Amino acid sequence: MPAGQALDLQQVPVSELKGVGPKLEEKLATIHIHTVLDLLFHLPFRYQDRTRVTPIGSLNHGIEAVVEGEIMGSAVVFGRRRSLLVKIQDGSGITSLRFFHFSAAQKNNLKIGARIRCFGEGRWGKSGVEIIHPEYEVLSGANKLLADRLTPIYPSTEGLHQARMRTLVDQALIMLAKSKALPDLLPPELSNELDFISLEDALNYLHRPPVDAVLSQLEAGTHPAQSRLSFEELLANYLCLRRLRELADKHSAPPLPDKNKLVKILLASLPFALTAAQQRVGQEIARDIEKQTPMLRLVQGDVGSGKTLVAVMAALHAIENNFQAAIMAPTEILAEQHYLNLQPLLQPMGIEMVYLSSKIKGKARVAVLQAMASGQAQLVVGTHALFQEGVNFSKLGLIVVDEQHRFGVHQRLALREKGNHDGTYPHQLIMTATPIPRTLTMSAYADLDCSIIDELPPGRTPVNTILTPDSRRDEIIERISNACKDGKQAYWVCTLIEESEALQCQAAEVTYTEMQQHLSNISIGLIHGRLKPKEKAEIMQAFKAGDIQLLIATTVIEVGVDVPNASLMVIENPERLGLAQLHQLRGRVGRGKQESHCVLLYKSPLSDVAKERLSIMRQSNDGFYIAEKDLEIRGPGEVLGTRQTGLMEFKMADLMRDAHLQPKVKLWSEKIKTSHPDFIEPLIKRWLAGSEQYGNV
Ligand code: ADP
Ligand code: MG
Repeated sequence: MPAGQALDLQQVPVSELKGVGPKLEEKLATIHIHTVLDLLFHLPFRYQDRTRVTPIGSLNHGIEAVVEGEIMGSAVVFGRRRSLLVKIQDGSGITSLRFFHFSAAQKNNLKIGARIRCFGEGRWGKSGVEIIHPEYEVLSGANKLLADRLTPIYPSTEGLHQARMRTLVDQALIMLAKSKALPDLLPPELSNELDFISLEDALNYLHRPPVDAVLSQLEAGTHPAQSRLSFEELLANYLCLRRLRELADKHSAPPLPDKNKLVKILLASLPFALTAAQQRVGQEIARDIEKQTPMLRLVQGDVGSGKTLVAVMAALHAIENNFQAAIMAPTEILAEQHYLNLQPLLQPMGIEMVYLSSKIKGKARVAVLQAMASGQAQLVVGTHALFQEGVNFSKLGLIVVDEQHRFGVHQRLALREKGNHDGTYPHQLIMTATPIPRTLTMSAYADLDCSIIDELPPGRTPVNTILTPDSRRDEIIERISNACKDGKQAYWVCTLIEESEALQCQAAEVTYTEMQQHLSNISIGLIHGRLKPKEKAEIMQAFKAGDIQLLIATTVIEVGVDVPNASLMVIENPERLGLAQLHQLRGRVGRGKQESHCVLLYKSPLSDVAKERLSIMRQSNDGFYIAEKDLEIRGPGEVLGTRQTGLMEFKMADLMRDAHLQPKVKLWSEKIKTSHPDFIEPLIKRWLAGSEQYGNV
């Protein structure tokens, strides 16, 4: 690459680097490194200090160090596995190097009397601290193992070695220095005020930190060079979400004014009045949807706060304006529950409702699709099948997405686009029962307006939660027996760490058989994700009707299931679940008048962290409090439910650690919009290009 030529590192493929052939290119692609810029932003997740030799006497378990000494013994030993054991000493102490794989040449090389320098991690072994498979060199003059910088360790993938990563990054850093191709996109006044170094300096520092860098700070991600990058990334993310919103605000939507007709009829038919919070949020929505721009609103409300009703009121506004409404739920079981719950409310009002999921097939499907396309179906309830190819609405005015925390920005956008009809977009209401701490909302939902239902309907008693070790399983079964004899109903929830639905179902089946043996006088049902929709619906119906007293379930019942007479829940192995998920599950009880209990039946012994987490469940029934704690303990990827999907994954920033930057990000994004609007596009491109989450917008 000729020096001085202006080049865009984002356009330079890694294959231009020395030593990168098609095979390596492919490997790099698996960790999302396609260009030289990607490589520069692929930062170490930890560092090794190989800059100095540690006395053997101070080597300890868990410490990574360079040690140097004289070989005083070398022998092949036969323990559980054959290994080569080399003892070295340096006057301060003795340590053993252990090799399970070694060649004859290696063995010959490691002779008594030779001096050796090696790098590895100390571990407790039979005869004190040993190092297993150290990197080593027999000293003869040159000393490669001692570095003059901290050694970066990069996130990598199988077969892609650290040494290789380092040489690639070396080349990238040279290219960066020569090309001056990474302009600073933070305005000078911002960098001044926040005391930021330049982007180039920050990258150089983080890839090759000097000997005196504070390791603990670097590893915590709080070094100023790291905050500098996190800030820029959060800024790019925020600007991008705001821009999406501004684009959406240019779209038009059908105005759905309150005709004061259907909602009135519905409310009159209910045995209760709306809570003040439901009324307030209902009005916020009504004010949005009477406008000609599409509503984009997130409704947060704790489990049981009555979000469904708020959504239905919005749907009725659409219907009385001769538009269709759709309610989409993330799981089949929840979608069915909505359908079954809403039917008795809406059918008497003469409203045509249909249900659609991918499991509805054949003639039934044709009929549903026809009703949707003709406009005969006024309210459509279903899973994401609602927005698949070949599914058409006649006049869709409102989309409600329930339990949205499973969907990322990308899905939100895709959904919006699906609803596009001749340039008109439906209003969109997103509901979540996982309360999202404010700092997270700013990053994850900056494109949405937000309403909070901060009140539960009256008469709810907080669920009494207890922690019980599984050694007391028999007592718990006895307790269920008594509760059911008193006419109460109970859930027994089986959990597994494995994502595998098959295994979860198996666990539930085993428990089901066990309970049938122990509780022969009680009618027991089993529900899991592998049942047919019709079977599931029948079981839920039977549980609702009280024909099933004890329901054995997998976490499929996590969201939305509503059976007020159920007042006891046992959750097996709760230590495997996140707090938000436990709170969701627990929210299935405490819905009726009687006092409810939740037994967290843990597998002992419980680690201290697990104990701390579970005791938070005992302390509080407040979803917001629990979410904050969950965030502290598990991090935002889990709380937002996006870890598995890879959505809202940042290269640099950590939403929790960098939460304090967020208000400044918001402030400066406004300033940049007025004073440096030309920076916005390149900023977004630099950090988010090609990222799934924002689509092509
Ligand atoms: P969530 O917010 O968890 O989705 P739901 O909408 O399922 O909660 O409501 C939970 C239960 O509370 C339902 O049985 C619903 O009928 C009932 N409910 C909703 N609003 C009220 C209210 N204002 N007063 C009493 N009960 C209500
Ligand atoms: Mg709900």
